[in-house]
Amino acid sequence: MLPMFIDGKPTRVETAETIGVINPATEERLAEVPAGGPAEVDRAVAAAVRAYPEWRRTPAPERARMLHEVAARLRRHQDELVRLLTQEEGKPLPENDEELVWTADTFDYYAELGRHERGRLIPPGDPDQFNFVLKEPYGVVACIVPWNYPLLLMAWKVAPALAGGNTVVIKPSELTPLTTLRAAEVAFSALPPGTVNVVTGYGAQAGEALVRHPEVPVVAFTGSLATGQHITSLAAPMMKTLHLELGGKDPMVIGPDIEQDLAVRALAYAALINAGQVCTSTERVYVPRDRFASFASDLTDFVRTLRLGDGLESTTDIGPMIREPFRARVEAQVAEAVAQGARLLSGGARPARPGYFYPPTVLTDVHHGMCVMRDETFGPVIPLMAYGDFEQAIALANDSPYGLGASLMCRDPRLVKRFFEEVQAGTVWINDPLTDNYAGPFGGMKMSGLGRELGQEGLDEFLRVKHVHWDIVGAPKDYWYPYGQGGP
Ligand code: NAD
Repeated sequence: MLPMFIDGKPTRVETAETIGVINPATEERLAEVPAGGPAEVDRAVAAAVRAYPEWRRTPAPERARMLHEVAARLRRHQDELVRLLTQEEGKPLPENDEELVWTADTFDYYAELGRHERGRLIPPGDPDQFNFVLKEPYGVVACIVPWNYPLLLMAWKVAPALAGGNTVVIKPSELTPLTTLRAAEVAFSALPPGTVNVVTGYGAQAGEALVRHPEVPVVAFTGSLATGQHITSLAAPMMKTLHLELGGKDPMVIGPDIEQDLAVRALAYAALINAGQVCTSTERVYVPRDRFASFASDLTDFVRTLRLGDGLESTTDIGPMIREPFRARVEAQVAEAVAQGARLLSGGARPARPGYFYPPTVLTDVHHGMCVMRDETFGPVIPLMAYGDFEQAIALANDSPYGLGASLMCRDPRLVKRFFEEVQAGTVWINDPLTDNYAGPFGGMKMSGLGRELGQEGLDEFLRVKHVHWDIVGAPKDYWYPYGQGGP
């Protein structure tokens, strides 16, 4: 059984239960990790609490040097970490290479941003006074991470939290803890002991113990809406600061004037990367009625050329889904849609081979009464729906309880402007879906969450503000007691 990472080193713990980590491409067991609970969480939080005063006082340029060192070490171990990511999560190697590069870049980005400023000056109400706003760390931040981008989504929390002077306890997904543990061993060991800790375990035990812990004032969570709502119900009475990146049902609108080949390839990427298991996957597509038939046909031809396989093989375009229940949910949505009149243009049946594979699946004749157009699918399914005018396309795009991302493939600047002004989504991509920029905030509107990751906004989530009013002269005021006599 692998150790956790507590107080700067791999730490063996005795737990009653262990978690077997499975390779989703082969269904083979890769390793075992401890199923931690309140005792292990207490130990990790205690280490983070001890490390906090020194980390908080460490001059920002020195913290920046250490965060750059984390990035450098991640890059030095790139091949090993990328392979491990593919083994435990399933994405093809090129996608995990990108995840690793983006993870390291996130630490470099926040290393610099964290030393840029600590607040602002306010013009005082009196010449002898001084007013300013301090941005201060909170203390220990819980970072609860899902399985689909185990390193990247960890970095989007840990890097800004550390850059702001907080210390952290990470709870990776029970499905994908291995890369996080290895990253801690090779990279977070560059930081003072206790600054970063990793506790493995199930959400209901380790995750909940972290959320409930009285010495954890901030919970940064990425995961499903249902878990986010549950965490909110636990944390709100304790007045904890919550940062929630939840689900999505992202639309893509195909404009009337976009080149067909470009739109087909962009859509296939946006809907199928990581087998559709991305919070910002395109999950519903709106196509102009007069080009619908040819678009559906070209898309179907293209996705049929993509190869399913083990992500470790260089010929693989699309890896497996993470586990059987996730595949079964996708199958159920497709079956319900077909039963209600949807037409299956490709895919729709699991291949006969080990691993949790599901083929790219294109559906037409869908409507918003179907689960596949309403609920998060989190799989390689592309439902296409026709629209009449652009107003209808925007109305359909907004017809969702979620508001994470939205994509448009279009040349006409008038339509582009209408789209980014009227669509309710935290990120709008035009002609380049799903591309992040570390300097730009990422997060959801509506039921997709609270707060933002990345950018200055993503750092501010981990800093609380304090207004300081300083009267430098400190003389009695004529508006003090007693009233009406002009003071002493
Ligand atoms: P999940 O909610 O099941 O689990 C996420 C994490 O929360 C895991 O570490 C899990 O162990 C933990 N957890 C579960 N129950 C908990 C509890 N009661 N208390 C504390 N922690 C608990 O989600 P998942 O299946 O790992 O991830 C897929 C979901 O994540 C999808 O809905 C997807 O849209 C969402 N997601 C969102 C974003 C975003 O940025 N908005 C990014 C990636 C994934």
